[in-house]
Amino acid sequence: MPESRLKCPICKTIPLGESDLEPGLHVHPCAQCGGQWISPKDYWKWLESRGPLAAEIAVPTEPQDLPVKELETPKFCPDCGRFLRRHKVGHGVHFSLDRCGTCGGFWLDANEWIILKSRNLNDRLHFVASDAWQGEVARQEREKAHEQIVRDKIGTEDLEKIKSIKVWIEGHPRKAELYAVLLDKKER
Ligand SMILES: [Zn+2]
Ligand SMILES: [Zn+2]
Repeated sequence: MPESRLKCPICKTIPLGESDLEPGLHVHPCAQCGGQWISPKDYWKWLESRGPLAAEIAVPTEPQDLPVKELETPKFCPDCGRFLRRHKVGHGVHFSLDRCGTCGGFWLDANEWIILKSRNLNDRLHFVASDAWQGEVARQEREKAHEQIVRDKIGTEDLEKIKSIKVWIEGHPRKAELYAVLLDKKER
């Protein structure tokens, strides 16, 4: 594997290599930790060659429960040396994406690309750092926390039951009337 001048932000002294992660996507992998550096130039070139984004996959056909090891210590951009910012991916993905806020490059720890790809999120790396995406992640987290409070109160079985009833009502052509019946608490 040919070497580039870039060093791995995790292994520090290990020079990153040169390789193609996908057809048309040039990256700089670390042979030691399995992470990859994607320069913004290479990322955008690849993205532009792909056409419209495919729909996000909520549940991949082949579940990717590959381990992702994330360091809590700060990482620095292999290209410009600035601090890499961590952005929660959300959408059921449990790791954060490292991105250089200065040059816009991405660092992916080992397995992260495969997991993102299984969900069609690998071509949305540039969105993950956006306020809109992060706002949505925060909203999903609040929703999850709220659901946990309800779950603690009424129990998993009843929660699942009421959720399935809600899905049924929401998809019903006369949902307003169904809600009216459901909420009608008059004594009979
Ligand atoms: Zn490394
Ligand atoms: Zn940078």
